[in-house]
Amino acid sequence: MFVCTGYGTTDAATPLAPLTVNRRDPGEFDVEIEILYCGVCHSDLHFARNEWGFTQYPAVPGHEIVGRVARLGGGVTKYQAGDLVGVGCMVDSCRSCASCREGLEQYCDGGFAGQTYGGFEPVLQEPSKGGYAERIVVDENFVLRIPANLDPAAAAPLLCAGITLYSPLRHWGAGPGKKVGIIGLGGLGHMGVKLAHAMGAETALFTTSTNKTEDARRLGATHVILSKDEAEMAKHAESFDLIIDTVAAAHDLSPYFNTLKREATMVQVGAPDKPLPFNVFPLLIKRRNFAGSIIGGIKETQEMLEFCGTHNITADIELIRMDQINEAYERMLKSDVKFRFCIDMATLKG
Ligand code: NAP
Ligand code: ZN
Ligand code: ZN
Repeated sequence: MFVCTGYGTTDAATPLAPLTVNRRDPGEFDVEIEILYCGVCHSDLHFARNEWGFTQYPAVPGHEIVGRVARLGGGVTKYQAGDLVGVGCMVDSCRSCASCREGLEQYCDGGFAGQTYGGFEPVLQEPSKGGYAERIVVDENFVLRIPANLDPAAAAPLLCAGITLYSPLRHWGAGPGKKVGIIGLGGLGHMGVKLAHAMGAETALFTTSTNKTEDARRLGATHVILSKDEAEMAKHAESFDLIIDTVAAAHDLSPYFNTLKREATMVQVGAPDKPLPFNVFPLLIKRRNFAGSIIGGIKETQEMLEFCGTHNITADIELIRMDQINEAYERMLKSDVKFRFCIDMATLKG
């Protein structure tokens, strides 16, 4: 075991501050990564504040990690020292259940022990700690390669926000001839707009903000729909093939259901701490579907990174110092970020 400096919190109400993080020494198939950048996901905030009710403290968030390989176990074949690599929301899974064998580790029967943070570190026998830290040690099978043409800081959010939108867009067939709606222009949503557009879909943004129209169009949205404006919503009634909802707070889904075509699907990826209220009739009358999706498997995450490399897609980031994280959380709650905060880990030591 070795220790490094990290940033986290000891209870739900305390701001994040420096703390010491234990890491296992690299085992035979492990890669030790010097973390350069870590994106700030809304899940980090839900987790640090125990909004989902399963946080164990001390808690160190961060699952949009980009760094350089520093040390390797003797059995590692996929990476070499100095490689630019990424780690997302998973650092392990059971590897034997039907989902794992299909490359769908995010739906592992073994549950969430392999989460980058909020899981369980099997060697240290303690809750796993995330990427707001100097270093992390991960099995090579859960390490991703970052395409050389992408800016490493702006690529970090692809490891969660990117794959969380890429996977349902692919699964539900976004592409030419399809009209795809993304709800919410935050970290996830802005990746959804970019990716759906790059896949060739006619892309729309549903937003509660009046000041995001120009940005949404620049990112690839053909339509920008103010969701609180009933007349605007009515213009798009029964027109969408697919909608992906990225909203982090409880909100009424019924008005969005009415914009789906018959038998079309709305996919929930936003994970509010409170149940979502909705009227079932818009689902019943057009045999519409309401589904959920969580991140993506390791193979699909690498595929997404290659897609982003080919199409030159990264996140629009605001680079912050580690000690600005508490302020960043407050701004994220006000939707005041364009469109993802990313921590420059060189600032961790001041
Ligand atoms: P974010 O950057 O804060 O973006 C959320 C967006 O939702 C905001 O920018 C805002 O967009 C909209 N919004 C916020 N409050 C709203 C409200 N009360 N009513 C309607 N719209 C509202 O968050 P994020 O990092 O993208 O994460 C979004 C959610 O996804 C979080 O709950 C997170 O935990 C979850 N998540 C899920 C997965 C998964 O695998 N399923 C992965 C990562 C994150 P507008 O201003 O455009 O309305
Ligand atoms: Zn995330
Ligand atoms: Zn499994």
